[in-house]
Amino acid sequence: MAECKIEKNKEMCNCTYEPCARKGMCCECLHYHRKNGQLPACYFPNDIEKSFDRSIENFIKTYKA
Ligand code: SF4
Repeated sequence: MAECKIEKNKEMCNCTYEPCARKGMCCECLHYHRKNGQLPACYFPNDIEKSFDRSIENFIKTYKA
């Protein structure tokens, strides 16, 4: 059985939304945001991530510019 690399994942996580209990649990993070029509924080540059707007529209806008 694969072991969860939560501490290693946290080292690479750029999410600044501190109260989130999913931090480091990339599978739950991805499912949560996908269910809401969004992408996880790590798809966004740090300055854009801080807005907490994780919508697909914001992702497209960010990379289209
Ligand atoms: S991207 Fe979303 S689910 Fe993932 S750690 Fe940040 S707030 Fe939590």
